Amino acid sequence: MKALSYSQISLYQSCPLCYKLQYIDGLETKDKGYFSFGTTMHDCAERFFKVKVPPPPSLEEMLAFYERRWLSDGYESAEEEAEYKAYGREMLAKFWEIHHPDFRMPIAVEHKFFIDIGNIKLTGRIDRVDKMDSGGLAIIDYKTNKELFTKEYLDNDLQLTLYQLAVEQSWFLPVERLTLYHFRSNTPCSCPPRDEVQLEEARRLVLEVAEGIQAGNFPAVESGRCPCDFPEHCPYYKQKFAPERGETDVLDEAAVGGAVERYVALQKEIKGLELELDELKATIADFCQAEGLNRVYGTNHALTYKMVERAGFSEAEVRALLEPEGLWPRVLGFDQYKLKELIKDETVARELRQKLAELRQVVSASPQLWVRRQVEEK
Ligand code: SF4
Repeated sequence: MKALSYSQISLYQSCPLCYKLQYIDGLETKDKGYFSFGTTMHDCAERFFKVKVPPPPSLEEMLAFYERRWLSDGYESAEEEAEYKAYGREMLAKFWEIHHPDFRMPIAVEHKFFIDIGNIKLTGRIDRVDKMDSGGLAIIDYKTNKELFTKEYLDNDLQLTLYQLAVEQSWFLPVERLTLYHFRSNTPCSCPPRDEVQLEEARRLVLEVAEGIQAGNFPAVESGRCPCDFPEHCPYYKQKFAPERGETDVLDEAAVGGAVERYVALQKEIKGLELELDELKATIADFCQAEGLNRVYGTNHALTYKMVERAGFSEAEVRALLEPEGLWPRVLGFDQYKLKELIKDETVARELRQKLAELRQVVSASPQLWVRRQVEEK
């Protein structure tokens, strides 16, 4: 099996079919402006830190580099591209202003790695690795996301966890800080390194994903990011995005379309009718209760009314009784069937079973109506 990267793992996790279409079938993804923008900003950060000796490039050099590296692919319009370009220039100037005065050479920039996790190869490219004064390492990954990263996001980000695994295997030094650098606000969002439990979980996840891929397990899993770049291959979107298909044996397209609309209309109608039914039921039940009646008559039908009670046990009371006797595990999950079995179990003290049976009480009551045709009654 070919080496897996974080992007592949993350895509497989969100939609295995999308992973297959992109990485196994080799379908081309569409250009997107924000990806082009991210690439340019990453290239600039790399240019700034990847010097043989200090000082880093001047601001003029960086801005000239930015112009050369600008990618125009994927923007919706010339206006959108111009906006992004001006915005990126500002971000870069601020980045330079922050990092130029106390520039320190990182120990690695765009560090490509291959590590083994079980029999699986994990690969990736880490934006930057710094050596800290303490002797430990700090991992920095640049992001051009709009939103700042929350603590919860940082604590659970799989990419940082995998990078920690890779860095510790490459340098045999402890990782002491993990950072997602929020480029838009030039804010380093940092958290402490992962502990052994989290690292082990990440290893297990990599192996699970690899196992799914090797087993050819590629279901389509819909999410908020759908449709992806390949909707014409997806069972959820195929009909909409690739409607020119051959004849189907079951129903033609127009008939299916009609069936869908009719189904939705009927569902709405049923909901409306159910509401009306509930209101009528409440009116009739209230009337029966107020008048002390068990049956009311219409022109052709009669309705028999009864308050149906459901008996059961209160969990807190049963627990208080059974726990001291060591019998609570017998009804684990508060299984009402097991509870009834326990009451019948003659190996359990009679007095206790009696007390238990006495705890049975009405837990709900709802009015029920049964229809009778007047003729039947006659
Ligand atoms: S559109 Fe289909 S294939 Fe693409 S991500 Fe959504 S569910 Fe997966």
